[in-house]
Amino acid sequence: MIVTIDGPAGSGKSTAARGLSKRLGFEFLDTGAMYRCVAWGVLQRNVDPADEQAVTDVSQQVKITFADDQVLLDGEDVSEAIRTPEVTEAASVVAQYPTVRQELVRLQQQAAAGVEIVSEGRDQGTVVFPDAFCKFFLIADPEERARRRHEELAAKGKQVTLDAILQQIYERDQRDEQRTVAPLKPADDAIEINTSRLAINEVIDQLEQLVRSRISSDSP
Ligand code: C5P
Repeated sequence: MIVTIDGPAGSGKSTAARGLSKRLGFEFLDTGAMYRCVAWGVLQRNVDPADEQAVTDVSQQVKITFADDQVLLDGEDVSEAIRTPEVTEAASVVAQYPTVRQELVRLQQQAAAGVEIVSEGRDQGTVVFPDAFCKFFLIADPEERARRRHEELAAKGKQVTLDAILQQIYERDQRDEQRTVAPLKPADDAIEINTSRLAINEVIDQLEQLVRSRISSDSP
């Protein structure tokens, strides 16, 4: 059984997807981390993120694995390293390339084969798992998303202005929504939830309730 959670940066989908997977006893797949790993590999090799062929080569060379809450790239724990602003920026650039997406979609489908999983990203309900059991699309006001990101960075001791974060969010949204391959958008059958005024536990409660009620209405 596959549950997909898509949405823009800062909509709360990562935390919600992780929490939901724990409540349901499902596996969890953070597909954004996969694009971030490719970006990290690209930057490490001094490859230009604008060079589509070279980036594609990197996406085929690197080995991305997940172990508990860690993201491993060629066996190295990069969980923290892939969260820097440079990697965030490069990830949204490399995610535009069809050949990179093709490679990562293949890995995502492989990861979900035969398991129960909550998969989180931008295109999980539309492209990667069009037949998913339950699809969610989380949204939140840009100002609220920027505020959350600001809080996250401040907790890590990083000082970035709210305005700068808001600007980055707009740019990233635009790139994600306007790319020709797998743009960020809700699947026709996705349930949309606005998380702007909800605490994360309330979001997880709602998601869990919706999945469980669908499970019970599906069982004979
Ligand atoms: O979700 P996260 O912010 O970690 O994703 C990093 C970047 O990867 C996003 O800005 C987006 O461009 C890209 N991405 C994507 N498709 C996914 C997941 C992430 O294009 N399924």
